[in-house]
Amino acid sequence: MNLHEYQGKQILNSFGVNIQRGIVATTPEEAVEAAKKLTKETGTGWWVIKAQVHAGGRGKGGGVKLAKSLEEVQEISNSILGMMLVTPQTSAEGKKVHQVLIAEDVYYPGESETSEFYMSVLLNRATGKNMIMYSTEGGMDIEAVAEKTPHLIFHEEIDPELGLLGFQARKIAFNLGLSGKAFKEMTKFVSALYTAYVKSDSALFEINPVLKTSDDKIIAVDAKVSLDDNSLFRHKDYVELRDFREENAIEVEANAAGLNYVDLDGNVGCMVNGAGLAMATMDLIKQNGGEPANFLDVGGTADAERVETGFRIILKDPNVKAILVNIFGGIVRCDRVAQGIVDAYRNMGDAIKVPIIVRLQGTNAKEAKELIVKSGLDVISVTEFEEAAEKVREVLA
Ligand code: GDP
Ligand code: MN
Repeated sequence: MNLHEYQGKQILNSFGVNIQRGIVATTPEEAVEAAKKLTKETGTGWWVIKAQVHAGGRGKGGGVKLAKSLEEVQEISNSILGMMLVTPQTSAEGKKVHQVLIAEDVYYPGESETSEFYMSVLLNRATGKNMIMYSTEGGMDIEAVAEKTPHLIFHEEIDPELGLLGFQARKIAFNLGLSGKAFKEMTKFVSALYTAYVKSDSALFEINPVLKTSDDKIIAVDAKVSLDDNSLFRHKDYVELRDFREENAIEVEANAAGLNYVDLDGNVGCMVNGAGLAMATMDLIKQNGGEPANFLDVGGTADAERVETGFRIILKDPNVKAILVNIFGGIVRCDRVAQGIVDAYRNMGDAIKVPIIVRLQGTNAKEAKELIVKSGLDVISVTEFEEAAEKVREVLA
């Protein structure tokens, strides 16, 4: 589950990580009030107005702007709120901005220069350890740094049993070129960040930039926090942070129905049981000139009700020109799935207007095929993978 920047920062702050402080607002009036309040609390004279959407690169898209007066807070908030923000990480139409974060300006001039670092905490699946990735090249596109100057990205592996050790935090501060107060502040920052990552059961923290201020404080200016969905049962207070407006509506509905659905851009809807078979099916579609419109794993129980829900969800996507059902009957018998398909089709009346190709293989595959053929419905029944591919090509031609 992904969070907004302001929510991620709240979690960081609750574990003692220094953050750029801010107050969220949904109207320009609230934004001005927030700015006043922030000035009382922090003494800041300028404010940054930051669009809250689940996408990075907001700065580049005009979703992060500095305001030097309360009039500017009002004007900028007014222009950002409600806009469709397009960034390198959104679709071409962009994401609607419902909220802005009014944050203290932390790039104030002072004794020393400000520096922007990159830091993320995540699981390294290859080693089974947690990992802190960090770089002196913060604030910008980390993908570009990884491509052009990979030697400027460092990794620190952390044994989950031992936790982050003192020398590791110091090594990170050292590699970032820090000394004196900033060095100490960075070791504290890294330790708190790691603790926050573990205790919040997060799947990813990405803080870009981590800022060294001109008076040598270390603070999180941005926060991309992704919580581990499987841990939400022990973080009841995090559950309500979910913002459904940021998520794909069809995916939300499918997940509520217990289906594992991911929306894609193509024209062939797929209904499959098992993630591995779903991936293979998507390859098959692509090799035969189609593009998968979705990933849908109906799981082990492909009964009539689930199949019907699956069809209804797939058909919500107007780009779907054909549906390929590819189910392997291992535990679930093919004839039961076939019956499910026939029942679902009948129930849906004339809601299905695209050709359906059904490939059922495994236990009672023959009976399944007969059942579908006998039903007289407009469903193309096959048993082999190649046949299914052939039919996809035919119906798309
Ligand atoms: P992103 O573009 O979505 O990654 O959003 P960020 O939160 O990283 O902000 C983008 C950029 O805005 C940062 O890299 C900074 O350069 C700038 N920025 C953020 N906070 C401040 C601030 O307090 N003062 C100033 N002057 N610039 C800021
Ligand atoms: Mn950022």
